[in-house]
Amino acid sequence: MKCPYCSSDNDAVRDSRIVEDGKAIRRRRFCNHCRRRFTTYERVEGLLQVVKRDGSHQDFSRAKIERGIQAACWKRKINVQQIEKLAAEIEAHILDQYEKEVSSEDIGNLCMEYLRELDQVAFVRFASVYRRFSDIQDFVEELRPILKGGGKRRE
Ligand SMILES: [Zn+2]
Repeated sequence: MKCPYCSSDNDAVRDSRIVEDGKAIRRRRFCNHCRRRFTTYERVEGLLQVVKRDGSHQDFSRAKIERGIQAACWKRKINVQQIEKLAAEIEAHILDQYEKEVSSEDIGNLCMEYLRELDQVAFVRFASVYRRFSDIQDFVEELRPILKGGGKRRE
């Protein structure tokens, strides 16, 4: 590891420690050339991160997209396979276009685009409710009582 102070490539690891709840290893290094100390972190290359409107990060999850679409398609003539296929297409699109981060807003907009082609009612449902939420999960939770009140229960 190149020393950040003198750029020499001659350091010794003095201490390695698991940190961040097992997600990273911190190494304290000592430069044998300029005798300064520096620290490096080692992490597993992460899953695509979803950045929510409040700035927080979450691992990308296709299951969440699926649940959101499912909620929007409630009582429409759309079967599970169609929903799974749509979610898979959206996921492929996202993984193709975004490397490290994607905003929850972009995900929502993409879901809307795809839903629009599948079913107008589901699209409008998704669009009208989703825009108010920062995350598909929030959307699903908000929609649940509305759906339950409007007909027979799903569960
Ligand atoms: Zn150095």
